[in-house]
Amino acid sequence: MASPTDFYSCTLAALRRTFGYPAFRGHQADVIAHVAAGQSAFVLMPTGGGKSLCYQIPALVRDGLTVVISPLIALMQDQVATLQQRGVRAELLNSTLSARETARIEQDIRLGHVRLLYLSPERLLTAKMMALLTTVKLALFAIDEAHCIAEWGHDFRPHYRGLSVLPERFPTVPRLALTATADAETQADIIRRLGLTDARRFGASFDRPNIQCVVVQKHDAHTQLLRFIQHRHRGAVGVVYCQSRARVELTAAFLDAHGIPALPYHAGLSTRQREQNQQWFLTRPGVVMVATIAFGMGIDKPDVRFVAHLDVPVSIEGYYQEMGRAGRDGLPAEAWLTYDVHDATGLIRRIKQSDATAERQRVRLHKLDAILALCETAACRRATLLRYFDEHVAPCGACDTCRRPPRTMDGAPLLRQIVEAARRTPGTAHEVAAMLAERERVRQSWPRWRPVRSADGWRAVIRQCVAQGALGVDHRAGSHLVATVRTAAVLRGRQPLRLPASRPPRPPETSARRAPPRSAPDTASIRARLHCWREAPARARGVPDHVICHDAALDLIATKRPRSRFALRWIAGIGPRRAALYGTSILATLSATTAPE
Ligand code: ADP
Ligand code: ZN
Repeated sequence: MASPTDFYSCTLAALRRTFGYPAFRGHQADVIAHVAAGQSAFVLMPTGGGKSLCYQIPALVRDGLTVVISPLIALMQDQVATLQQRGVRAELLNSTLSARETARIEQDIRLGHVRLLYLSPERLLTAKMMALLTTVKLALFAIDEAHCIAEWGHDFRPHYRGLSVLPERFPTVPRLALTATADAETQADIIRRLGLTDARRFGASFDRPNIQCVVVQKHDAHTQLLRFIQHRHRGAVGVVYCQSRARVELTAAFLDAHGIPALPYHAGLSTRQREQNQQWFLTRPGVVMVATIAFGMGIDKPDVRFVAHLDVPVSIEGYYQEMGRAGRDGLPAEAWLTYDVHDATGLIRRIKQSDATAERQRVRLHKLDAILALCETAACRRATLLRYFDEHVAPCGACDTCRRPPRTMDGAPLLRQIVEAARRTPGTAHEVAAMLAERERVRQSWPRWRPVRSADGWRAVIRQCVAQGALGVDHRAGSHLVATVRTAAVLRGRQPLRLPASRPPRPPETSARRAPPRSAPDTASIRARLHCWREAPARARGVPDHVICHDAALDLIATKRPRSRFALRWIAGIGPRRAALYGTSILATLSATTAPE
């Protein structure tokens, strides 16, 4: 039997001969030697770490067919074309091929002429493909973007779930799961579903020390972005991520009008236009790509100096993947994000109003909470980000919070209140926050009692506690908040828990500088409070928020500010029934907003 050294030298020869690289990077050598020896593995490697070689080289040195499963046709096409250019027999089977072409490839597979076969999970799971695979000698199953298998992953693809048949149907064929982005829960799920419990795990650090993180309060995102580029990255290549297509177009036009060569990229553009913009970005100097998250997968440009986010991403995994496109050459780069607490309220609302199942909604809210905690943290941003991936590092000294530490306060008394509330009535972070706020609201009727925190405020505190490990979330039990080892340590005074001293800063319309007089509170904050108000009755009745009252009606209330139940009746979308049911609490919410903080 060949020794590990033999495997190493033959894989190194393949690296040099076929790919023209002199040496392996990071964990590549270990992973490849392990897989080439016919063992299964789970590989966690940051974007750009060189995951594809981890299965491409074993495919070259092992006997039989390597099947690569990937969620994206475009990625597979790229890899297959590159491999073919390098003289490797790689094929992709998908529905765009003609019947003749498909038959030819299948015949070549049967004859053992194909080394690597790329498939979507859907294709793999067809009865025809399964039958074909049982007739040929298989070397390896490589499951790329393996996080897509996890329901609480940020990028769940239902068809990936079907891959759990691989260990059942092909128990002797080694499996290699690869991902750049998976929190602890997701990793556990991948391992369970792909039968990798006994497989070796290879994990590179998620740290990208050359990328400096900065989060700024959003007030005028476009101008802030322009200044950031002009002052820090003039003439540099960058990527700006926006949440919507319309915002992509506006932002690209804005930058262009101010002398920054910017191109839009989103799924609404024609394929030709997208390809052209991508080509320009890849080949011309100093182009800024303004894009939705549709852009980036498989883009391998080493000299991106900054990645900016104009909107809060929906998860840390997504954010990490996007910001990780900066500084692949190892030179200094910046990840810059503008954050506004109102965006967060909007995102939460969108999740709650989505068609997703209750469980899926809970997972998405949890993911969103984690990224909001990163935006609001008073601790080192790098350490907070890495902790999410279960890596514990000391403060970096380079991020914005390390360089200008925000004021903090002792979080233990708040943690105690949260733990007590969650013990009495177990629930998700959002439910416990609502409970705590409701308790304070009830106390509002007590003489001289001033409520300290709204549900939003409590949510912010809870997500900080979760981000710092002082509370946990149990996804197997309805995403309920649970105590952790650190909870006890903090409550017993053995470990400190520092939380940001102020509540998450408010947008500038309400800030001291531009604050309107008390008699005219800004519409946005009234609207935000009305949205919060709506959650309690919606939850009580177990219906979506909009059933209680439409957004449009809340907007009208926020602008018209009716003072009586009678006036409320005349707001479109309210009417006499809702006015009778909710009038008192709506008016109370309105007057609470106009009252001093
Ligand atoms: P990932 O899938 O982890 O994001 P890729 O497999 O696409 O990364 O590799 C990223 C880039 O690094 C590719 O251009 C690849 O050719 C290059 N690369 C991978 N391994 C090596 C190596 N050992 N030496 C030099 N370049 C490498
Ligand atoms: Zn730091």
